[in-house]
Amino acid sequence: MTTIAFIGLGNMGNPMAANLVKAGHKVQGFDLIAENLATAREHGVTVTANADAAVKDAEVVITMLPAGKHVVSVYEDIAPKAAKGALFIDCSTVDVESARKAHAIAAKHGLPSVDAPVSGGTGGAAAGTLTFMTGGSDEAFAKAEPILQPMAGRIVHCGGDGAGQAAKICNNMILGISMIGVAEAFVLAEKLGLSHQALFDVASTSSGQCWSLTSYCPVPGPVPSSPANRDYKPGFAAALMLKDLKLSQEAAQASGAVTPLGAEAAQLYALFNAQGQGGVDFSGIINFLRGAAK
Ligand code: NAD
Repeated sequence: MTTIAFIGLGNMGNPMAANLVKAGHKVQGFDLIAENLATAREHGVTVTANADAAVKDAEVVITMLPAGKHVVSVYEDIAPKAAKGALFIDCSTVDVESARKAHAIAAKHGLPSVDAPVSGGTGGAAAGTLTFMTGGSDEAFAKAEPILQPMAGRIVHCGGDGAGQAAKICNNMILGISMIGVAEAFVLAEKLGLSHQALFDVASTSSGQCWSLTSYCPVPGPVPSSPANRDYKPGFAAALMLKDLKLSQEAAQASGAVTPLGAEAAQLYALFNAQGQGGVDFSGIINFLRGAAK
């Protein structure tokens, strides 16, 4: 049994913490929202009055926060108060620069750390099947792996500090671009009088095959589990896709990478969000492309 502090018990953090409790760990949790603390308590998390109390005596500190500024500020606050040698794991999706800043804060206090963003959404968090993309030293990764195990379907060590975040934003840039590509193909098919099922049957076994088509099809019917079948209820909200695409474009600018399709995808999701569609699943972009987001 390991004593784990869990800071940020929102949609993702709460089910992740619950799986750590189920695995036999002592989890000390903190969040700013009372309702989230109540849910955590129901899952067997020992709720604390503040982040400092959660971190006290914890051998591992996990954060699952909205964005880079929250992670850096929480690290600045709690790293000086953490137990000697405590392992810091940040599972939030943040920009690479903030991730590296967080690593540096931990290192300043002699604390090993990994960035470990996830893919798999709230469903994967509840099922304990998240994919973790981790960045950090071999030593820090070796310590983090068994802790992540009860929450994970797959754990990949992507490289040094920030490499997990780099993998996450590259993956989600592919996802944003490919979803728009698949959605455009269905809109064109509609104009040409081709049925959704016919396009799916051909493209799913041809060179157009991709995850956005075969696991997350943006029209109802061919893939019964996709959000299109439940009026685009997320799933993965368009607001989160926009956040990740913006992170990819900031990283592209900072590194000098040329990513014109990533830039276009970010623009399209910005327009979709501006129409008040941020809470809709990101595959709902097909309605925007039809000229009728609903
Ligand atoms: P969320 O908003 O539900 O949870 C974040 C929590 O952090 C909130 O409960 C908030 O109160 C808490 N918080 C903020 N500042 C805090 C502080 N200083 N101290 C303590 N708690 C604080 O968001 P979420 O959906 O759980 O996402 C968390 C992270 O995971 C984000 O970076 C998101 O991009 C990423 N992510 C989300 C999904 C998804 O499907 N929801 C999938 C993959 C990755």
